[in-house]
Amino acid sequence: MRLIFKNLNVLRSTINAISKSFEIKEIFESAGNNLPNLFDFSSFGIFWKEDHLLFLFQEDSCPPPFTQEVVRNMLKVFSILGGESFEADRMPLQIEKRKLRPKQMMVDPKATLKSHLTLPLTVEGEILGCISLNSDQPNAFDVQDLQFLSVIGYQMAATLKHFQRFSSIQNIATYDTLTGLYNRRYFEEKLGAEAQKSFYGGSPLSLVMVDIDHFKKVNDTLGHTEGDQALIKISSLLKSSVRKKDIVARYGGEEFILMLPEAVLKESFLIAERIRRLVEETSFEVGKTEVNLTVSMGISNFPSHRAKSKEDLIRMADQALYDAKKGGRNKVCIFTEKSSPWTIPT
Ligand code: GH3
Ligand code: MG
Ligand code: MG
Repeated sequence: MRLIFKNLNVLRSTINAISKSFEIKEIFESAGNNLPNLFDFSSFGIFWKEDHLLFLFQEDSCPPPFTQEVVRNMLKVFSILGGESFEADRMPLQIEKRKLRPKQMMVDPKATLKSHLTLPLTVEGEILGCISLNSDQPNAFDVQDLQFLSVIGYQMAATLKHFQRFSSIQNIATYDTLTGLYNRRYFEEKLGAEAQKSFYGGSPLSLVMVDIDHFKKVNDTLGHTEGDQALIKISSLLKSSVRKKDIVARYGGEEFILMLPEAVLKESFLIAERIRRLVEETSFEVGKTEVNLTVSMGISNFPSHRAKSKEDLIRMADQALYDAKKGGRNKVCIFTEKSSPWTIPT
């Protein structure tokens, strides 16, 4: 009786620790700290699926022959209950081994798996992953182990689901769903922080507003779905044309904005001009047709244009873009109080 009470207490603190985890590695660590107090096993692992990747966290004491067998068992459980067929050689599997227990378990590296307890991690009928206790001893687990592990698995699954929901909310708040670029909300938040840094620290900051020329024609002649494809293609061209520290966002329908930290005016003009030319020279494959597009761009810069707020910077880039459109399109304009097409300063 006393042993059961002791075990129930350990079980309660295990569940508590898991529910307070903030990331999946923490779930794994909480489990690693607590499970050896409840079960007698050689190694354990957690397996889960994220998008099109499979992950396996395992104790580093787990001998290689175990790993293969454990992966096979978990994939079997996952395939049967998840209704999808997973094959280890077709699905990218990322294995991470970690030291977990304070007192490392010594397992013979040649040991083979003699018994295992593998449970699916399910929430609301959806299978998120598996947890598996493994032993090099035969008949290592009994019914009470199964019951206890089920309770722990239930909490793990609930915490995993919570992470998934949180990360999908974060994605919606950050990315544009069509193009995968940052969205306007996120861009403005980032610009706020970057503009503060520049205004107080004096480092340069440029904005480039980009608008596709006569995009309505693409929709009218090819259709809206093809128009969407063209937006995706041009987005990836923009993304691959800037430095790592730059931010590219979809600002509106067929309008994009680039934030170039530490870029002086001349540098940002050269970047914009390079992109303008690249778009002009590219044939975008859209469905079965090739589409040629051009873009107009407007640039604003701190400190050159004496912007006092991020709104000022955006307004100036927007005005320069308007001038580029008025000037005939397929052009880069820099903001001036009375903007006009600009040439490289000598
Ligand atoms: P301009 O050179 O003056 O910019 O001409 P434009 O035709 O590009 O400009 P306008 O603002 O008149 O039209 C923008 C078009 O972009 C209209 C709209 O149908 C299209 N558009 C906006 N968002 C999307 C989208 O998400 N998908 C598709 N396919 N088209 C979009
Ligand atoms: Mg346009
Ligand atoms: Mg537009």
